[in-house]
Amino acid sequence: MPESTGDRPLGVFGGTFDPVHLGHLRLAEEATDALGLAGIRWIPAGQPALRDAPQAAAQQRLAMVRLATAGNPRFTVDAGEVEAARPSYTVQTLERLRRADACGPQRPLVLLVGADAFAGLPAWHRWQSLFDLAHIAIAHRPGFPIAVADLPATLAACWSVHFCDQPALLAESPSGRIVTFAMTQMAISATQIRALLASGASTRYLLPDAVIAHIDKHHLYQEN
Ligand code: ATP
Repeated sequence: MPESTGDRPLGVFGGTFDPVHLGHLRLAEEATDALGLAGIRWIPAGQPALRDAPQAAAQQRLAMVRLATAGNPRFTVDAGEVEAARPSYTVQTLERLRRADACGPQRPLVLLVGADAFAGLPAWHRWQSLFDLAHIAIAHRPGFPIAVADLPATLAACWSVHFCDQPALLAESPSGRIVTFAMTQMAISATQIRALLASGASTRYLLPDAVIAHIDKHHLYQEN
């Protein structure tokens, strides 16, 4: 079980994954190496709190994440949010992980987010509590430069307290640091993929083949 490899930090990757794509997969794979993580726990949202209802049902999105991550020993999939009959709030997800199984109170947890998601952090439920529960690692994403001067004032203040330029230090405490990491820049989004599918265009090489086959089989994303 990769997650239990020593006490190395565990990556936590939440998202709508509507559908999961190669940008998500490279983010998780590259974060594992760049940040010295034991592995990544993928957590699809059941009912995302801050956006319109996803187009695909939660169980379909979970199934696609399982297909996309199958065979990668660094990845595990957590169905807890899909199975919960309530909106998904990251702070509650992390509290659940802290109570449960492999994590406990002391294991370093590293919440992975793209630069766009990080900029929106002040809209998240109890967002300042996130730093008591996990570190946050921000992936560079095309179109969303990480510019501290452009962050909302509350988030910029938080950055000045928590930013750390040495990812190795993530292993030394359970939570509370912000790091950034470079990843292969891939201008792929689920929004773009849903639009391609609705228009009947090819999504090949943007998604794993197994996910494309699942979308075809279940006739997902036929309308925009
Ligand atoms: P949508 O277009 O529907 O908003 P998305 O492609 O942004 O979806 P999400 O499931 O919302 O996908 O993203 C989950 C996480 O992955 C977020 O933190 C997001 O910032 C990050 N992410 C998604 N795509 C990329 C990408 N191409 N590069 C870097 N980060 C990404």
